[in-house]
Amino acid sequence: FAKAIGVNAVDIVAVLFRMGEMVTVTQSMSNDLIELVAAEMDAEINFVDADDLLFADYDEVQDDPADLIDRPPVVTVMGHVDHGKTLLLDSIRNADVVSGEAGGITQHIGAYQVTRDGRKITFIDTPGHEAFTAMRARGASVTDVAILVVAADDGVKPQTVEAIDHIKAADVPLMVAVNKIDKENADPVKVRTQLTEYELIAEEFGGDTTMVNVSAKTGENLDELLDLILLQADVEETKANPNRDARGTVIEAHLDRGRGAVATVLVQNGTLRVGDNLVAGVASCKVRAMFDDVGERVTEAEPSKPVMVLGWSDVPDAGDEFRVVDDERTARDIAGDRATRARKEELANRPRLTLESLGDAVQEGQLTNLNLVVKGDVSGTVEAVAAEMDKLDLEGVRTRIVRKGVGAVTNDDVVLADASDAIIIAFNVRPEANARQTIEETGVDLRQYSIIYKAIEDIEAAVKGLLAPTF
Ligand code: GDP
Repeated sequence: FAKAIGVNAVDIVAVLFRMGEMVTVTQSMSNDLIELVAAEMDAEINFVDADDLLFADYDEVQDDPADLIDRPPVVTVMGHVDHGKTLLLDSIRNADVVSGEAGGITQHIGAYQVTRDGRKITFIDTPGHEAFTAMRARGASVTDVAILVVAADDGVKPQTVEAIDHIKAADVPLMVAVNKIDKENADPVKVRTQLTEYELIAEEFGGDTTMVNVSAKTGENLDELLDLILLQADVEETKANPNRDARGTVIEAHLDRGRGAVATVLVQNGTLRVGDNLVAGVASCKVRAMFDDVGERVTEAEPSKPVMVLGWSDVPDAGDEFRVVDDERTARDIAGDRATRARKEELANRPRLTLESLGDAVQEGQLTNLNLVVKGDVSGTVEAVAAEMDKLDLEGVRTRIVRKGVGAVTNDDVVLADASDAIIIAFNVRPEANARQTIEETGVDLRQYSIIYKAIEDIEAAVKGLLAPTF
C-alpha cells in the first residue's frame, strides 16, 4: 500500500499508531482502515474487485434481445421440517418419470427437470433454506420461484417463518403449497389465516399470494402446482441467450472415488459444452463429460438445465459461480490466483499471537500456554535461554519450548511456530530468506535479541500487557 501511494511504510505505521492501531509493517489492513489512512495522507484511492480484474478480458456480453429464448423456471422448495418437502420433490419427479418422458434411471444430482404440457421446470433437489441461504451468502441467485411448503395438519411453524424471511430477503416470488390435505385433521383454511400474519394473503382472500392445497402423498393437485409455477414463469418472463458462453452456479459438488471431483451445475445463461474450460471459485475444469438427471451422457446443456460435470481440478463449493474462459491455462491461472488470495485473506483474518497481543489474550483467559521456538548462535545460549524461559511463572501462563536449536531461523521453524501458535525468540541469529518470506505470509512473531535478560523482560512485560509496540 505504501508503494502504491508513494510513501514510506513507516509513515503509515506512524499514522496508524496515532489512530490507536498498533500494527507491524507486514500486517494486513482492512479496506476501512486503508480508506482512513488514505484520507489522512491525502491519497486518492479506488478499490477494485480483484475478480473483476481477472475477468477484465471477459467483459459482459450484452445479449441481443433477438437471441433471448424462454428458459425453464428454476424452483426451490422450503418449509418446516417434516412438512413434506422431500416427498413433494420425489412425487413430482416420479409422476414425470411414470408419465414416460424420462428414459433413463433417475439420478440424484442436486437438481432435476420435469415436463408439463411440453414445457420444462427445473427443481433444486436439496430442500430446506440452508442450501438456499448458503447459495445466497455466496452471492448466487438461482431461484425463480420459491415454494413454501406448509403442512395443513401442523400449520405455520418456526422454520416456516424463517423460510418466509429468507425468501422475502432474496426478493424471490413465493408460492405456498399447503400440503398433507389428505390427512383427516388437515385445516388448510387455518394455514391461510396464520399466513396473513406474515403478509402472505391468499388470492382467494383478496391478496396476491398463490396458495394451492396439495398432497405429496396421494399426488393430489401436483399438476395444478406445476401449472401455477409455469404461470408465474410467464409473468416473470424467464429468458436466456443460448448463443453465448455458459455461466451459472454450482449446485452440488463432491469427490467421487472413481471419477474425481464432480459437480452439478445449473446453466443460467448460454450453452455449456463438453470441452469448455471453466472456472468456479478456486477450481478449474476442462469439461470431460456431462450427465443429465437421468444419467444420460450429454454434450450440451442449455439454460436452466442441471448437469453433472466431470473434469474438475478441485471440488468447487455449492453456490460458486462458474464461467467459461478461453483456454485451459487461463482457467487454471484464475483459479490459482483466487486460491492464493483466499489463503492470504484467511491468514489475515486469523488472529495471530504476538508479544503485543499476549497481555490481552492472557487477560481474556484465552491463553494458558505460551509456546516458544528458541534459536541461537551457540548451544550454551540456547540452553540458557530455554532454562530461563522454563522458570518463568507468568500469572498462571506456562511457557513451553516447542523447539530449541542452534543456527539461523529456518523455514521449518516458522512453519512449526505457525502451527503451534508460537513466538520465535532468535538469539544473535537471523531468519533465512525463505523463512522471512513465510514470516511475512503467516504473521508469526519473530523477536531478535542479543541479551538474555532483555528477552525475559520483554516476555514478562508482554504477559502483563505492558509491552510497548515496536516498529
Ligand atoms: P421434509 O422434512 O419437509 O422433507 O418432510 P418429508 O418429505 O420427509 O415428509 C415428512 C413425513 O410426512 C414423511 O413421513 C412423509 O411421508 C409425510 N408426508 C409428506 N407429505 C405428506 C402428505 O401429503 N400426506 C401425508 N399423509 N403424509 C405426508
